[in-house]
Amino acid sequence: MAPNVPAPGPIVGIDLGTTNSEIAVYRDGRVDLLGEPQLIPSVVGLDEQGQLIVGEAAKNQAALFPERTVRSVKRLMGGGQTIQLGSEKFKPEEISACILRALKQRAEQALETPLRRAVITVPAYFSDAQRQATFAAAELADWDVVRMIHEPTAAALAYEVGQEGRRHLLVYDLGGGTFDVSVVAVEQDVLEVIASTGDRRLGGDDFDTCLVRHFFALLQQQHDLPAEALQGRLAASLQKSAERTKIHLSDFPYALVEEAYVGETAAGEPIHLRCEVMREQYEALIAPLIDRTMEAVQKALLESELTVLDIEEVVLVGGSTRTPLIQQRLETLFGLVPRAGIHPEFCVATGAAVQAAVIDGVAVDAVLLDVTPYTFGTNAIDARHDGEESYNPHFFAPIIRKNTPIPVTRSEVFCTVNENQKEVEIKIYQGESDDVRDNLLIGDFTVTGLSPAPAGNLVTVQLALTKDGVLEVTAQEKVSGLQKSLVIRRSFQPGDVKTVSAAKERINRLFAEGESRDDDDEADDSLEASADDSRENETDGPHHLIERAEALQPSLGESDATDIAAAVAALKAAMVESDVDAIAQKQSHLDDLLFYLEM
Ligand code: ADP
Ligand code: MG
Repeated sequence: MAPNVPAPGPIVGIDLGTTNSEIAVYRDGRVDLLGEPQLIPSVVGLDEQGQLIVGEAAKNQAALFPERTVRSVKRLMGGGQTIQLGSEKFKPEEISACILRALKQRAEQALETPLRRAVITVPAYFSDAQRQATFAAAELADWDVVRMIHEPTAAALAYEVGQEGRRHLLVYDLGGGTFDVSVVAVEQDVLEVIASTGDRRLGGDDFDTCLVRHFFALLQQQHDLPAEALQGRLAASLQKSAERTKIHLSDFPYALVEEAYVGETAAGEPIHLRCEVMREQYEALIAPLIDRTMEAVQKALLESELTVLDIEEVVLVGGSTRTPLIQQRLETLFGLVPRAGIHPEFCVATGAAVQAAVIDGVAVDAVLLDVTPYTFGTNAIDARHDGEESYNPHFFAPIIRKNTPIPVTRSEVFCTVNENQKEVEIKIYQGESDDVRDNLLIGDFTVTGLSPAPAGNLVTVQLALTKDGVLEVTAQEKVSGLQKSLVIRRSFQPGDVKTVSAAKERINRLFAEGESRDDDDEADDSLEASADDSRENETDGPHHLIERAEALQPSLGESDATDIAAAVAALKAAMVESDVDAIAQKQSHLDDLLFYLEM
């Protein structure tokens, strides 16, 4: 290096995504995503004056001016196509270079130093030509690529740095337009992708399309709209509302959609959109798409010659994995709570930044995360209609789960249990047990003056948790909007926030044994869990059930022991087949047997 060349800045990590891109750096034990906002849409365009625009501005004009906007250029990398933008022609790597250059500018601004060296991630399935095109794009944007790593490897690295022993992770990556699922083997500091499959044409954009169709069908009932009306301005507006609604439904049980103007009819009347979408309704729309991803998960397991039992961690990557239904489906299949301590859209850039720091000679033994150390929720009556025994008035309904990145705001909807119930007592607990009596009561209040209504009047309980542990609780009667709030100043000590070792957490979970309980007193002004409450929380995961069964085995009589052994074998067989429905069924059978035998 020439003597008077200034020392280069730190090596940074770049996730050049199909839908969004991010740039990050590791410093002081943390990974910082650079720029504001931290996520930049991978969209490039020319504005009305012919000026180049990258990111949000380009995304905003994409639907209206497709002839001068390019999205998802990553799909074209390494192919020979040219891209027409206005009157000019570009190669895919030139378009990618625009994104990489925009990332460079924002990072240099944030770090106040020139940058040159980067670790860039690419999908595990990228061919040599696609990698070469990515290198070429980086060069055009003045980056030296010190290493190119696989996206699933980066995601695994973000969570696994500092872990010991050989482990297998399943990385489930659902972005805007692509789905990738990979199995990564981790041993000491060596990460290897042992299987990778997916669907290159499936992503969150398809979830948007489901809602667009739903909205359009509603509009067709109100106006005389032919199918061809769904284009141009109307299609663009509905797409925007759809994405907003979808994102809202990831954290809240229902969404009110209200758009004053989404377009006009052939006769020139303005069209406005107003409707309410419940989460379950939305989930029914997207369920077939999620089924397809679960099929690919099976395929990845098959390819790696592993079963669900061999997977120690499930890692969520990509913005679309914020959808609660996806988390539930994976939790049921693997019997593990998926890792989500890093925002899923930042996971790949985080891992790239960790790799960059390691190459730079920085000691990295863990990544500090701002996550909640506890689960917070409320009590509800668990009135599943599958027999008297399951009636449990002390059921803990989690709202914000342990290890969720903070700050975070989430809500769930509950219903009253009595006719004309006038008030409802809201109790907020902290803890991990599904019986509130084993958790810590950290605040309570009563909402009075509920509207006269039959049982089933909906009350939303919302929790907003800050980084400092301030928890704001708001309960609201849905029909009237009547609400009451409470602020809990110290729901945890900020010092409690730390990286929790996954292995340790799993051990804790295995030892957190749920005892059988007596269903005595019934709280009067309770809430009932609404239909949607995740069942995974109420029963143990399959791994845990098998442990319990095996622990019980020696103390049983011959006939009980035979029953238990058969139930365990059936559950294991279902898990080997990775058959979700069969697992759920065998799991519940074993759970029932254990319930009686452990008493
Ligand atoms: P990629 O890696 O393909 O570039 P991302 O990981 O950034 O894409 O994911 C983008 C997708 O995630 C988009 O479809 C976006 O609508 C979706 N998304 C973002 N936030 C949420 C959310 N809270 N709930 C559901 N989907 C979301
Ligand atoms: Mg991404």
